[in-house]
Amino acid sequence: MRNITKQMFLNTLACPSFGWLMRMKREEVTRKLTKGERFRIEQGMEVGRRVREVYPDGILVDERDMTSAIERTKSLMNDPNVFVIFEGAFLVDSLAVRVDILRREDDIWHIIEVKSGVNDKEEFIDDMAYTALIFNLSNYKISKISLMLISRDFRLGMANDNLFVEIDHTEEVIGRMLQFTTYYSEIEQITRASTKPEAKLQFTCKKCPLFKDCVGKDIKNHIFDTRLSQPKFKDLLSQGIVQIEDIPDNFTLTENQLRVKNYVKSNSLFVGDKLRNELNAIVWPAYYLDFETTQTAIPLYPDMPPYTSIVTQYSIHKCSAPGNVIDHFEFLADETKDDRRELVKHLIKEQEGESSIITYSGFEKTTINNLARRFPDISGELNSLINRIVDLEAIIRKNFYHPDFHGSTSIKRTLPALVPEMSYEGLEIRNGDEAMATFACLAQGKYGNSEVETIKNHLLEYCKQDTLAMVKLHRQLVEYI
Ligand code: SF4
Repeated sequence: MRNITKQMFLNTLACPSFGWLMRMKREEVTRKLTKGERFRIEQGMEVGRRVREVYPDGILVDERDMTSAIERTKSLMNDPNVFVIFEGAFLVDSLAVRVDILRREDDIWHIIEVKSGVNDKEEFIDDMAYTALIFNLSNYKISKISLMLISRDFRLGMANDNLFVEIDHTEEVIGRMLQFTTYYSEIEQITRASTKPEAKLQFTCKKCPLFKDCVGKDIKNHIFDTRLSQPKFKDLLSQGIVQIEDIPDNFTLTENQLRVKNYVKSNSLFVGDKLRNELNAIVWPAYYLDFETTQTAIPLYPDMPPYTSIVTQYSIHKCSAPGNVIDHFEFLADETKDDRRELVKHLIKEQEGESSIITYSGFEKTTINNLARRFPDISGELNSLINRIVDLEAIIRKNFYHPDFHGSTSIKRTLPALVPEMSYEGLEIRNGDEAMATFACLAQGKYGNSEVETIKNHLLEYCKQDTLAMVKLHRQLVEYI
């Protein structure tokens, strides 16, 4: 039988049913990784490689097979001349772990968990507590438990010593580890049982990748679609209510939640009184604008902190009236340098005049604000772009609802409901996360020369699709009024 991994242990704590599937029927919980996820894994590996350079005398346990890795770890720990071990392997009963870094301090050990982010998160405590639990049950003593994160002060060109910050979490982790000690045999029993534990609906199910095949199965309009808070969710659940249609009339909901409920129940469209006026306020010819950005742990260009969000491309559809495209502009940054000033120059020039700039969400406004701070000499022109922005999503959120939105006004929900003939299927890049990962790989030189032009075309096609989707959505809204 499969060993219990850290992820399996933590998932079982959150949901026994999910943990059981991970151990007994892994194929049911394993899905193909997205481009964005693959990119983040590779980025984590790169961070792991760099952290090992910080300890040049460290020894990597590179055996993938667990039995050999455990033997090698044991022999390294028994060697008093070995002070740092990477990826040490431990197994207690069926609970397995690999420890990112172990540092010998006399006869006891400092555990270091490496994460490729800049923010300390509460969930890391559980992560480290599992590591500490297995290490402790293996009869080794712990001196300290730390988290190693990426330093915000790191800049391209600096030595790897400057890339990391270490945070001592010994006290919290030991506390949590002691709690885990009481669960540990229970988790073994749950995950090796012959039948799957009953799936129980809980608030975290809304983010579970299995939701639609599990407790959300056959429920078309789940109460999660109202975006309700955890206390309200618990209140409804205690009354046995899981679908929107069953929410009682006297149950307190916000205006938006009430709208979702009413229009799901009547299976009709909500078209607010102000929709016409808000759309009529648009000054034509209008520009539909969409940005794509990228961010990486190791900065792509000099003088920027890790994970700086940098705008890399835009698409603009110019229309003389709703649905009537008269021009299209696009820009894709030169990946070999920080090309934001050039992008800004084109952005300003291509949207000259006083007419409206239509975006979908507040992201473009925030990005232009950041650009104005970055380039104070042209901040006046950038600020005047901001003053012309009309957020189509905000208009929809206030004034329009279709039962097929399922509580969300993101373009990935509104487009199939209002413009079903248009989709992102068939495109090589289908969402912003993939665009982000693709540009980062381009800038890191991960594509061969023969691929670069094709990749750039995929990026341009995706961004163009986003602004065309806005044009069509807007056209459809006008139809409704
Ligand atoms: S949907 Fe909920 S109950 Fe089902 S596996 Fe996911 S977390 Fe567990």
